[in-house]
Amino acid sequence: MTARGAAGDHFGDPGKSRRVVIVGGGTAGWMTASYLAAAFGDRIDLTVVESAHIGTVGVGEATFSDIRHFFEFLRLAESDWMPACNATYKLAVRFENWREPGHHFYHPFEQLGSVDGFPLSDWWLRHPATNRFDKDCFVMASLCDAERSPRYLDGTLLDQGFVEQDHDESAARSTIAEYQGVQIPYAYHFEAHLLATYLTGYSTRRGVRHIVDNVVDVGLDEDGFITHVATAEHGELSADLFVDCTGFRALLLNKALGEPFVSYQDTLPNDSAVALQVPLDMDREPLRPCTTATAQEAGWIWTIPLISRIGTGYVYAGDYSTPEQAERVLRDFVGPAAADVPANHIKMRIGRSRRSWVKNCVAVGLSSGFVEPLESTGIFFIHHAIEQMVKYFPSGRGDELQRELYNRSIAHVMDGVREFLCLHYVGARRADNQYWKDTKTRKIPDALAERIEIWKHKVPDTESVYPYYHGLPPYSYNCILLGAGGIEVRHSPALDLADERAALAEFQRIRIKADKLVQELPTQNEYFAQMRADT
Ligand code: FAD
Repeated sequence: MTARGAAGDHFGDPGKSRRVVIVGGGTAGWMTASYLAAAFGDRIDLTVVESAHIGTVGVGEATFSDIRHFFEFLRLAESDWMPACNATYKLAVRFENWREPGHHFYHPFEQLGSVDGFPLSDWWLRHPATNRFDKDCFVMASLCDAERSPRYLDGTLLDQGFVEQDHDESAARSTIAEYQGVQIPYAYHFEAHLLATYLTGYSTRRGVRHIVDNVVDVGLDEDGFITHVATAEHGELSADLFVDCTGFRALLLNKALGEPFVSYQDTLPNDSAVALQVPLDMDREPLRPCTTATAQEAGWIWTIPLISRIGTGYVYAGDYSTPEQAERVLRDFVGPAAADVPANHIKMRIGRSRRSWVKNCVAVGLSSGFVEPLESTGIFFIHHAIEQMVKYFPSGRGDELQRELYNRSIAHVMDGVREFLCLHYVGARRADNQYWKDTKTRKIPDALAERIEIWKHKVPDTESVYPYYHGLPPYSYNCILLGAGGIEVRHSPALDLADERAALAEFQRIRIKADKLVQELPTQNEYFAQMRADT
């Protein structure tokens, strides 16, 4: 790290465009570049520098439904980017074996209904129609079991109350923040490196400079602001704002600026992963419209169906499994299709930087923070961070409050997701070995422990979940609590006195609608086979 005098500052000077250097060209780097280009056009001078020698993390293929706002902000239609990224639809996360072997349940992209002021989950506890909470309360669970596409063969979206808009070039663009109450009925799976390539093209066509080189040094002035990053072959790159997208290395924020990292490891012990990319023949194998998380002896395995391969990996705790054992478990799980496929072993840094924006450096992606990928929150963190970066974009060095507000919002999102993930483990009924037994006695955030005591008597609602925005609405907590089955939850006593006919009619309506949609909609395989035949 080198030190020198104050850098020229283009902030606050309306005659000069703001210079932003993004270090790192993984999903975080290119999502940031394309979003800033879409937000600020040529009023901003953007450079991305990425190393040809230091690879990206190479995983990160499942998303949240809110990702739709990202693509809409870039004014990209599904037909523009999905085929280029081998993308498929995701209606839910399917949890297998978290309660007991052979059991599964879904956490779908679908809000939970309510009847007479009580959530449907509460009514279900009072009067379960079947033993499948998810299928009784949500349409999407049946569509996942039947491997349906959310679209008909003519491209029409199933009717779940979400209306697709045709956006012209000058129309206002949506963001996560303003659409929190609107449930988009699906998310996507895509190949992360193809998305990065696609967004590279999008960004460079809009004037983003792309440099392939190693950053070897970071220059600071006497106030601790970054003046420049030094590259091996392209000299020094100076800027007003530096975005650290260097992954777990956090080269700028943690290393150069010394911002501490707050570990979540005491509450979320999974710190390792091994991943495989397994070929898939779409004509013969099903494309499940969901991410599957299958509980294992020391963690869980993700299965993500893409157009021509399955992305799969075992997330585990190094205290309970060696990398060799983990790779063996994963290969046995996948079977012969994985025989010749190389494994990617990854050490994960679980937690967040104390502050993600310090001085003139903001970290986005793994450099900012990461929790294990159980609910596909990594790309959501990136998307949320970029939106907040635009919202709190500074006018100059003195914008301390802007940075403080940004940091608060990032910390809330990550701390909230940590609570939600902890619930999966403490709430899983499974306790058949030391790993799963320890999930019941391990420390959890104090506030979560208090909430769980409340949820035993009253299902989660807006009053009782983590109080700041973190992307997970109360219905998500209901799904995990009632699906994973390890915490006994009682219905509200008032429901013993209430007339339940309207609730029973609602369960009936959901069943009829689900059956009808299963009859009408094509499978994902049929849908994407037709899409490919048409192009
Ligand atoms: P990286 O992909 O690591 O990219 C770092 C970049 O920095 C690279 O381009 C590298 O070349 C560059 N770089 C580093 N040092 C230098 C240097 N000195 N000079 C120049 N360039 C440099 N998220 C989800 O939303 N869904 C998922 O299903 C999901 N699954 C995951 C599974 C696992 C096991 C892990 C670990 C993560 C997962 N994530 C998931 C998170 C997701 O992968 C990341 O959020 C996403 O890929 C962003 O990574 P990144 O761009 O921050 O870092």
